[in-house]
Amino acid sequence: TPGLFLLATPIGNARDITLRALDILASADVLAAEDTRSLRRLMEIHGIPVGDRPMIAYHDHNGSRVRPRLLGQIEDGKSVAYASEAGTPMISDPGFDLLRAAVEADLPVTAAPGAVAAMDALTLAGLPTDRFMFAGFLPNARGAREKALRGLTDVQATLVFYESPKRLAAMLRDGAAILGGARPAAVCRELTKKFEEVRRGSLDELAAFYEENAAKGEIVVLIGKGEAEVVSEEFMNAEIEKALEHMSV
Ligand code: SAM
Repeated sequence: TPGLFLLATPIGNARDITLRALDILASADVLAAEDTRSLRRLMEIHGIPVGDRPMIAYHDHNGSRVRPRLLGQIEDGKSVAYASEAGTPMISDPGFDLLRAAVEADLPVTAAPGAVAAMDALTLAGLPTDRFMFAGFLPNARGAREKALRGLTDVQATLVFYESPKRLAAMLRDGAAILGGARPAAVCRELTKKFEEVRRGSLDELAAFYEENAAKGEIVVLIGKGEAEVVSEEFMNAEIEKALEHMSV
């Protein structure tokens, strides 16, 4: 069937791909990938031949040029499978403009859902998952990073960030200063891979740890929401009484 098929691929362990995604990879007329080498390798691992099907690179740098070509294929009745380098397309990865263009052109679109590092991290961190906010990568420059963190101080949800190992310690330290060092947090590293690790603690503890121990690998940082101030009825009444007394003087 013609259409755009957005495929989730593994974030580390090659077997974290759905049977449906493999079926689509086996049957699509056109294969498109952010990184054609990693898609080829993934297909090889799962015994799916590329054959004589076109394998087209589609990423942020060539998107505007390649997009019309991919959409043209769908208009011609072809099925186009797109995979980003790892995990789910559009989650801090390319694919958004491709989907928008397909929707605007009224072409059929569907997705084969699967791995997302943010979701795996939420599953393992032990922080509340009833409300969470995906904040992606913070800006690299310190000033911009601090400003972005200040914009998140009042968010009543678990915050989810992607971070590079180089900047992890600085990000945790800024997070502690701006959001509060006592906030519960977790650093999830190398998820689904051989050296998977989840380190839980307060922002202060985690900042101190990674200042001493340089982190390696791929990282998701989760920060729990600040303690909501619990105000008892007695306290409120006493405060109101005080204010009233003050007014009547
Ligand atoms: N599309 C991907 C997804 O669905 O999660 C994210 C792509 S983004 C370019 C790459 C970032 O995701 C990494 O820098 C890291 O923050 C996070 N990430 C990806 N794989 C990871 C893993 N196995 N463990 C921890 N973090 C991971």
